Amino acid sequence: AKSTVAIVGRPNVGKSTLFNRLVGGRRAIVEGKPNVTRDRIYGETEWLGRKFNVIDTGGIVLHDNDKIKNQIKYQAEVAMEEADIILFVVDSRTGMTGVDEDIAQLLYRTNKEVILVVNKVEDFSNQEEIGWEFYSLGFGDPYLISAEHGKNTGELLDEVISKL
Ligand code: GDP
Ligand code: MG
Repeated sequence: AKSTVAIVGRPNVGKSTLFNRLVGGRRAIVEGKPNVTRDRIYGETEWLGRKFNVIDTGGIVLHDNDKIKNQIKYQAEVAMEEADIILFVVDSRTGMTGVDEDIAQLLYRTNKEVILVVNKVEDFSNQEEIGWEFYSLGFGDPYLISAEHGKNTGELLDEVISKL
């Protein structure tokens, strides 16, 4: 079966922007499930001849009026269940937050590959400082990218397919 990469992270870090960059117009049309608009969150893509599925877990909501904390927990669980590789996205502009640490705690329980992605990096002059801040999340050296501008996303994809 085709491998699956799930994008996880708190709201507003750029998950959907990254999803759109990876998947582009190639949204998968998958059978509907209650509360899940699967055609917006499931897509497929290809890099260097390697095809894989991508899930934007931010679009998976349990109940629309449920607490954000429960939503994120559910999204992380879906990722850990369905994905082979998890892209854990954080935001360089806001820096690390308590919610990022909560998500890290959830992801420590998985034996799936987790790649830490620091998004919204448009200025690469202080990479070490940015990397250092997020290194303490415990997922090794982060990938610094700009999903919006496509900076370093090719390097991230190289890393993803090397682990599929
Ligand atoms: P999500 O809630 O995690 O899915 O985040 P979105 O993809 O909806 O993005 C949230 C906001 O961050 C939007 O205003 C995006 O335009 C912005 N954003 C996403 N990626 C980048 C980036 O690489 N650089 C900058 N500067 N803004 C970004
Ligand atoms: Mg989103």
